[in-house]
Amino acid sequence: MDTSAYLKAHIRTVPDWPAPGVQFRDITPLLQDPKVFRVLIDAFVHRYMVRGLRPDVVAGLDARGFIIGAVLAYELGLGFVPIRKKGKLPYTTVQESYELEYGSATVELHADAVQAGERVLLIDDLIATGGTMLAGKRLLEKLGAHVLEGAAIVALPSLGGMQRLRDNGLALHTLVE
Ligand code: 5GP
Repeated sequence: MDTSAYLKAHIRTVPDWPAPGVQFRDITPLLQDPKVFRVLIDAFVHRYMVRGLRPDVVAGLDARGFIIGAVLAYELGLGFVPIRKKGKLPYTTVQESYELEYGSATVELHADAVQAGERVLLIDDLIATGGTMLAGKRLLEKLGAHVLEGAAIVALPSLGGMQRLRDNGLALHTLVE
């Protein structure tokens, strides 16, 4: 079994959560098993050890992006910065709002979290419509950083997020579709 199939076998689908009709892809089984957790993190570590792909800093999206992003940053010897949902960060922030199916959401980043010109790896657990990751990219760019790549464990191509992100100039690396 290759790495992608191995990881996929440890993602649980929960029907009708958080709302009727939604098939939620639950990644917690990947974290729970120490061997699977290592395979997951190492898959990202190997990619970003490579010259040319090596970022200066890792930015994780709230909240599951923190779990994998922080461990990955530590393994790469880099710093980690959290992109949080509105109202959670204590210091001066920059903000970016985006549309959801019903209503809108806002994400925030500390104004001194990244420096102009830094190469940032942006990471989350899953890409659905791509709205969250696109907001994260725009936030980092407001501070003058360059988003090297967007990374996620899972992408759901049928929801169009991958295409949308690529159309907006973001290269992507995902482990499971
Ligand atoms: P998007 O903004 O791409 O539509 O949705 C992606 C965001 O919502 C990510 O932050 C992700 O954590 C969360 N999300 C949406 N659907 C799922 C899902 O089925 N499983 C998981 N683990 N996260 C999801």
